[in-house]
Amino acid sequence: MLRDILDIIFPQSCINCGGESCVEKVICKKCLDEIVVNKNLFCGECSARLPEGKKICHRECPYILGAAGNYQDEALRKLILNFKFRGVKEAGVILSRLITDYAKQINWSWGENLVVPIPLASRREKERGFNQAQVIAEAFAKKMSLETEINNLIRTKNTKPQNEISDYEVRASNIRGAFLVKRSERFDKKTVVLVDDVTTSGSTLYEAACALKESGVKKVLALTVAKA
Ligand SMILES: [Zn+2]
Ligand SMILES: [Zn+2]
Repeated sequence: MLRDILDIIFPQSCINCGGESCVEKVICKKCLDEIVVNKNLFCGECSARLPEGKKICHRECPYILGAAGNYQDEALRKLILNFKFRGVKEAGVILSRLITDYAKQINWSWGENLVVPIPLASRREKERGFNQAQVIAEAFAKKMSLETEINNLIRTKNTKPQNEISDYEVRASNIRGAFLVKRSERFDKKTVVLVDDVTTSGSTLYEAACALKESGVKKVLALTVAKA
């Protein structure tokens, strides 16, 4: 109600160009249409394109990467930052839509896939009030009619935010052994879609995918809104 009144007095502007926003009151149609949605899956190790959705280079990598867009894309980055750090729910709605559009056009069999969000460190989730990966994962699963598995893959330590560490080696050791599966029988022989908002060095996805594989998961598709 208050939001509606405020919208009339101060119409919200597009987070990217400052013009009038018309999609979910966050972004204008032009800026949204300019976000480039990828068409391929990628190698989790070297980002090589995998048109067939099968590993061709780094076969030892525990996951295949699906990234809807690119973090260098300014409008996409602003949507992510507004959602994650300012709690703008409408931006999250658009991100879920983008990830679903991407998912529908890549070469992947979705039947029986289990959707699992990357858990946030509990301290951070309390501060933020929500886990952005979980919000996106749940909206995505609903649109794709897939099952979710929440609170089974958990974080065992309160690691430093990965985006505050620039060195690749330090990032990898910061997150090492940070994930644990509580009930592995739920994951046995399953294909898991592991959802996160952004991937940069890939070490978070790598660690989480290793924990899933150790619990009997057959295949992991790491699905993110963007990759750096
Ligand atoms: Zn705009
Ligand atoms: Zn590779």
